[in-house]
Amino acid sequence: MKKSNLVIVYHRQPYEEVVEDGKIVYRENSSPNGIVPTLKSFFGEVEQASWVAWKQVDPKEQKTFERVVRIKDSYGEYNVSRLPLTAQQVKSFYHVTSKEALWPILHSFPEKYNYDPVDWETFREVNWLFAEAAVQEAAENAVIWVHDYNLWLVPLYIKQFRPDVKVAFFHHTPFPEPSMFNILPWRAEIIESLLHCDIVGFHIPRYAMNFVATARSLKKVDILEEIDVEDGLSPYGMALSVPKVATRIGYEGREISVDAFPVGTNVAFIDELCKREKTHEREREIKATLGDRKFIISVGRSDYTKGTRDMLLAYERLLARRPELVEKVQLLVTSVAANAGMAVYRNVQREIEQIAGRINGKHATFSWQPLVLFTQAVPFDELVAYYRCADICWITPLRDGLNLVAKEYIAARGDLKSGALVLSEFTGAAIELPTAIMANPYSNRNMDAAIDQAIDMGAEEQAQRLVEMLAKVRRYDSVHWAQHTIERFKELPDNPRQGAKL
Ligand code: UDP
Repeated sequence: MKKSNLVIVYHRQPYEEVVEDGKIVYRENSSPNGIVPTLKSFFGEVEQASWVAWKQVDPKEQKTFERVVRIKDSYGEYNVSRLPLTAQQVKSFYHVTSKEALWPILHSFPEKYNYDPVDWETFREVNWLFAEAAVQEAAENAVIWVHDYNLWLVPLYIKQFRPDVKVAFFHHTPFPEPSMFNILPWRAEIIESLLHCDIVGFHIPRYAMNFVATARSLKKVDILEEIDVEDGLSPYGMALSVPKVATRIGYEGREISVDAFPVGTNVAFIDELCKREKTHEREREIKATLGDRKFIISVGRSDYTKGTRDMLLAYERLLARRPELVEKVQLLVTSVAANAGMAVYRNVQREIEQIAGRINGKHATFSWQPLVLFTQAVPFDELVAYYRCADICWITPLRDGLNLVAKEYIAARGDLKSGALVLSEFTGAAIELPTAIMANPYSNRNMDAAIDQAIDMGAEEQAQRLVEMLAKVRRYDSVHWAQHTIERFKELPDNPRQGAKL
């Protein structure tokens, strides 16, 4: 097969695999919104592209497994190289090391960090396999674009195989301060690998700053260029203590660009959905059910980082504090169970269900249920109809790399010019949307004040804030993110450096 100029390495496959009449069929994901379609949109920019992902395969089937498939869909024609992993490898690499050890540290939850069951050798082995698959797909001087922390060691291995290719890495999560990151016993190895990239990308300047500080705490890294950060407000509710962020660093004779650029949402697609008759029909149905109640929506996965528990407790307090709201508000919570096989996520889900049950048990009347909880994913077009009916969107994670839901809510209300967004200051999106009602989910008093402010906000103030947020969401949409990234790739010189030290 022809080699590719762009190889995207992301752990999830870029399509849905379904069995129809005993045959495997690759179906395009139904929604063009979210990270997979955003990454697939890059395929239009290059002559030949590939995607590398993992797929769990039974050891008996490994020999006959079709490793590379050619996919043709609305994004073009591209190779998908599927890494056949055993159930044991998936458990160790993904469920244990990535989700129980790396994820809690990235999100500053050291109390959830579980080091004991980690088998770092398997993590290395799987990262090595990803690197091997990626370089097999890459043409000379290709860009290999690696995504997320579970593939942290891939850049180092790629450069060992192929010093000619350019490696870019994007973090979809936060990046914590050195004192938190350095809890990881594999810290030096991870940083060494990231320092073999040509570009290391993050959503916001604070994460980039934390990365550079961490790298400097472990390695002899020089700052070659830095810029002033225009948005002086950090998502952690304070002015950045260091207003400068490094954009270029040096390590062992190599140069690494450090980039902070938040992923955008597909505004054009949301606009199109908002105009569809089917969406309007669904809106009418939802509104008919709601009557004149104020409708609050909160959308997320069941993960302890998402703060759903604290948001529900704030709702419980709201109903107790403001009895005039009884039968006058309605909350819809989606808490989609991801990684349901893991005890930590099952426990989060159980607690959410318990609190939701308690609230309904205490306050429901024959004609009113104060809270509706969905634990299955809502299709995106349906979600847009809910966004359009929601007077308030309540998004208060304890920590979140970005949060696309906040941007989607704003985009979906473009023509309505009403609606209030309550947004945790511990999300990356808070940097871009400072006119949201900022909330600190670690404080009951602050959470209560934020939801009160949203409920009581007048139409004029809502419109004013929404217009400002909309301008940002529209300007920095997924197309803009793609253009910026492609520009950065083009700036990279060919064969820029010697390979990694073996
Ligand atoms: N989402 C969805 N249906 C649901 C819940 C979420 O389609 O029931 C989508 C949502 O529209 C958003 C994504 O899942 O595009 C979640 O992205 P976000 O950045 O908010 O959080 P993440 O899950 O990536 O941490």
